[in-house]
Parts: sequence; C-alpha cells; structure tokens
Amino acid sequence: MGRSTVDDDVAPALELRGVRAAYGRIEVLRGVDLVVPHGCVFALLGPNGGGKTTTLNVINGRLPPTQGCVHIGGVHVNGASTARLARAGVCSVPEGRGVFPNLTVDENLLLATYSTDERSADEIRARAFARFPRLGERRNQVAGTLSGGEQQMLAMARALTVDPSLLLLDELSMGLAPVIVEGLYEAVADLAREGITILLVEQFARMALPVADYAGIMVHGRIAVVGEPGDLAGDLDAAYLGGSAA
Ligand code: ATP
Repeated sequence: MGRSTVDDDVAPALELRGVRAAYGRIEVLRGVDLVVPHGCVFALLGPNGGGKTTTLNVINGRLPPTQGCVHIGGVHVNGASTARLARAGVCSVPEGRGVFPNLTVDENLLLATYSTDERSADEIRARAFARFPRLGERRNQVAGTLSGGEQQMLAMARALTVDPSLLLLDELSMGLAPVIVEGLYEAVADLAREGITILLVEQFARMALPVADYAGIMVHGRIAVVGEPGDLAGDLDAAYLGGSAA
C-alpha cells in the first residue's frame, strides 16, 4: 500500500532481530526477524499458536524479549513501557477489540481523548465518524450492542485518536462475515495510504493479503517465510497443510 515511501537510507518503522520471548519457562518466540518499512502493511500470518500475538505483545511492550532487539524508527526499545511506546506512536487494537461494552460509542471515543490534549473531543469524534460513518449513526448506542464489525470499527477509531505512526492489529477478522472484513481492510488500506505503518496479524490469509505490501508466515515461534503476497501462495498452503489460508 505505502510502497512508494520506502527509502533505503531511512531506518525501518519496525525491526525485530533475533527476538526470543517466553511465558515463564516456556519459550514461544525462537528468533523472530522482521522488518517493516515506513508506510507499509505487513501481514503476519500462520496457524494457531505459532506466536503471532506474542510477537505483537513484545512490540507493544507487554512482554519483554529474553533475547534480541526491537527497534522502532531506528530506536532500540527493548524494555520500554507500553506508555513510552504509545508516546512513540505505537498503538494496538487487540484481539477481541477492547472497547468498553457498557459505554456508548461517543463515550468510548471520549475516554480515548483523555490521553490526548492536543485535539478537542469534538474534533476527534468528527474524524472518527468521517472515517466510519456507521459509528456516527450509532453514536448514542452502547458498544456492547453494536455488531462485531461496528465494534471493530470503534476499536480502530479509538486507536486512531492518538495519531499512531505504527498500528498493530490483531485478528481484525475474528468472528466476522467476509463482507464486513473486506470493509475493515479497506479502512486499513486507507490508513496505509495516509502513511501509517501497519503490522497486522491474521490466521486467515485471504482477506489480509490484498492490502499487504509484505507478508510473513509464522510457524513454531519463527517467521519461516517472508515475501510479497503474490509469492507466498505455495508456502501458505504448506503452512496450513493446504487448509485455512485459502
Ligand atoms: P492464535 O491465533 O491462537 O492466537 P498465535 O500465533 O497468535 O495464535 P500466540 O497467541 O502468540 O499464537 O501463542 C503462542 C503460544 O504461546 C501458544 O502455544 C500459546 O498457548 C502460548 N501462550 C500464549 N499466551 C500465553 C500466556 N499468557 N501464558 C502462557 N502461554 C501462552
């Protein structure tokens, strides 16, 4: 999506080198190497349990790596707090969306505005509703009664209130109908065109690949293959044993 912004002289938006990470004594990441240039969409794919969400957790500071380096915009950020990473422009939309179900759409957005002092609540809501008109139509509805797709829009709108430079999206398509997922990925493509770098995790490749500049397949704690989406078909079939990637 944002391929035109790639410049070899500029540090990539995100780089992981030899990253290992563990939950207690169980090692889950076993040497992850990943480079995402500025303004690009990288789709991290692969079957259940390969370590995709754990990779996001290392990048957003929730899980410190036991070995290796994480660089954001050329800055070494191993061990940085989630708050510091957020100030550096890293923002996540977690699997399961992370909206407040008992608050209205307006209130969910308003809560997000408390962490930013530069823009007014009205401006933030106007931008969210311009990007996702459905949220504007449902601004007084409690989030728990929105459809899954609308909740995902709200989660993205909340993340965007802080103007991230690196957006981490975990399983955007989870539990949603393909037509809804297509709409969400159109929004992702728009964000990349606006210059936001995006790392997205998906178990199912078909929806994510059309918006991706690069993709990687994660298996057993390593990114086994990286390439442009069109080059990965055979590897995806092998990774999923010819099943769910298609
Ligand atoms: P999924 O699509 O199932 O989330 P994934 O590729 O995102 O797959 P991870 O969620 O990163 O995989 O999980 C990798 C491995 O780490 C799995 O074996 C999982 O059971 C284990 N794991 C994940 N979270 C924890 C945790 N908090 N404590 C212990 N083990 C965990």
